[in-house]
Amino acid sequence: MSFTLAAKKVSSRNMQFNALMLVLPRFTPSTHKMMPIGHTKEFLRMAASNKWLMSSAAYYLDFFTVPLFVALALCIAPLHLGEALAGLLTWSLVEYLVHRFLFHSLYRREHWTHHLDVLAFIGISSWKTSSAYAGLLVLAWLTGLTSAFTGVIVGYFFYISLHYVMHRPEHWAYRFISGLAVNHDLHHRKGVEKNFGVSSPLWDHVFGTYVRAPALSTVEENT
Ligand SMILES: [Zn+2]
Ligand SMILES: [Zn+2]
Repeated sequence: MSFTLAAKKVSSRNMQFNALMLVLPRFTPSTHKMMPIGHTKEFLRMAASNKWLMSSAAYYLDFFTVPLFVALALCIAPLHLGEALAGLLTWSLVEYLVHRFLFHSLYRREHWTHHLDVLAFIGISSWKTSSAYAGLLVLAWLTGLTSAFTGVIVGYFFYISLHYVMHRPEHWAYRFISGLAVNHDLHHRKGVEKNFGVSSPLWDHVFGTYVRAPALSTVEENT
């Protein structure tokens, strides 16, 4: 490619980027922020990054390795229920904070690919999460916190399973989680910076980011 052609391409990319900056919704965690409606879907599609697209193997691997880690943790030491529940609660907080403060800010473009195509294999590769959990299990073993570890990864397993089902209404388990699915649907389709909790609305209630469908209609009518 000649220098002139390359320069033109860069300049055209810059113009597209500047146009995007004008129309993209900003990250405003404390306010109800509506996405601009209309032609912006195309702009958002352009803003999404395919960096987190992965193979089906990398997506599904966690569903096999996480139960394996739970079994290993239970072989190492007996389960202490209180500690496991504390681990479960810790996971739900991590899930909320990561979604709100990483996926909707620093890694927004990567996460947005999921917002635009809910069935795409998007997220952090199971190879990475499974490696991280293997390291955490060793750490838990050394510190005597295997039950807390079990609670954390059981929470993670709930999260990936529920999230999988809530984007597939035809799934047999969907009817049991329709309330959670509605919450998550609002997070997706209304373009609202709310309802960051996927497996539970607990931390959205705590931090004031929970919104229900009727409340949302009222806000939309007033805007
Ligand atoms: Zn999101
Ligand atoms: Zn989703």
